[in-house]
Amino acid sequence: KDLLNNVELLPPDALFNIKSRLAKDSRPVKVDLGIGAYRDDTGKPWVLPSVRKAEKLIQQSTDYNHEYLSIGGLGALTQGASRVLLGDQSTALKENRVVSVQSLSGTGALHMAATFLAKVGHDKLIYLSDPTWANHKAIFEMVGFKTATYPYWDPATKSLDLQGYVSAIKSAPQGSIFVLHACAHNPTGLDPDHDQWTSILDAIVEKDHIVIFDSAYQGFASGDLDRDAFAVRLGLEKLSDASPVIICQSFAKNVGMYGERAGCFHVVFPRQDQSVDTEKVKAAVTSQLAKITRSELSNPPAYGAKIVATVLNTPELTNQWHSDMVTMSSRIIKMRHELRDHLVKLNTPGNWDHIVGQTGMFSYTGLSAEMVQRLEKEHAVYMVSSGRASIAGLNSSNVEYVAKAINEVVN
Ligand code: PLP
Repeated sequence: KDLLNNVELLPPDALFNIKSRLAKDSRPVKVDLGIGAYRDDTGKPWVLPSVRKAEKLIQQSTDYNHEYLSIGGLGALTQGASRVLLGDQSTALKENRVVSVQSLSGTGALHMAATFLAKVGHDKLIYLSDPTWANHKAIFEMVGFKTATYPYWDPATKSLDLQGYVSAIKSAPQGSIFVLHACAHNPTGLDPDHDQWTSILDAIVEKDHIVIFDSAYQGFASGDLDRDAFAVRLGLEKLSDASPVIICQSFAKNVGMYGERAGCFHVVFPRQDQSVDTEKVKAAVTSQLAKITRSELSNPPAYGAKIVATVLNTPELTNQWHSDMVTMSSRIIKMRHELRDHLVKLNTPGNWDHIVGQTGMFSYTGLSAEMVQRLEKEHAVYMVSSGRASIAGLNSSNVEYVAKAINEVVN
């Protein structure tokens, strides 16, 4: 009996709590800038046309069923996913240095990274950007890791603190683990430029750190898969003779498969010297990943995996998907401009150019927690207390309303 009586009551999840407050709000105009999920210009969730077509193909196929997948997941998904991420010209793929398994979307892939590292005996600190997606800390701490942060966002300049970032890499103990956002950094919407990535990754190579790339927004940020994979591919090039690289890949945002939990976990092995039997090492790693999946999920979810695999492996649907990503990313970019322009027109104190300079789903607006609270209370505009706004929640009918509300709380 005591077992349950002593259970600690935890606070509700900040993000999902916004959703439930919003659902209870009876005001006629309300705006959801909380959760990072794409909405179309009418404020509705959008099923990508490429996904609709893939679903039709799957349901019309003669082998349509709901059988279990294998423990490692759907091969057509993991292979297509690694190609999309690493690129057709990837030397790691050509050299057969990649192990890929299906995961429970991006969160499941991160959990697999944490569980796998704990299992193989890694006990170093996990370094996360300051700030980062709140779940990063929770996922790694849940399996017993300690986390630390590296400087990222400089609030004074609303830009990257490159110097702080690189010196944190250099002063971390050799062989530490760094979680890097592949693109469209959440929550800041601020990504290093190409030169900055070079400095960051060179410092990582110098210290033999292990990188976990979190790739949750490939193609969603710029509309271009290759452009959004720049950091991952540069990282693999630089680390190919040094350390393994782990990549956690989500299809929640770029295929709009939020609730279907389609994702992949990849380990890219470095080139080894003759004394190491890479095939043996790969087999051992694969067996450990299979054990994790078998004990936690038995096997990964099939339906979303089949949809994404069909999109990735049917040329006509792949082309449609590419244009779907442009549709999503360009609407978000348009909303960034409209919000900034309205704020400028209203003479709202401060400079709002960072809203258009940032990329991906979010803008780190710079609004204080108190302003965010007033936005919700007085204007029914909901966002995270850090001032992170999901730009996908803006549309042509509400962007001016939101700008006026921001203007009022800032003044
Ligand atoms: N990583 C980052 C930075 C994210 O923002 C998200 C989702 O918001 C994820 C990973 C994982 O998302 P999911 O588990 O829905 O694929």
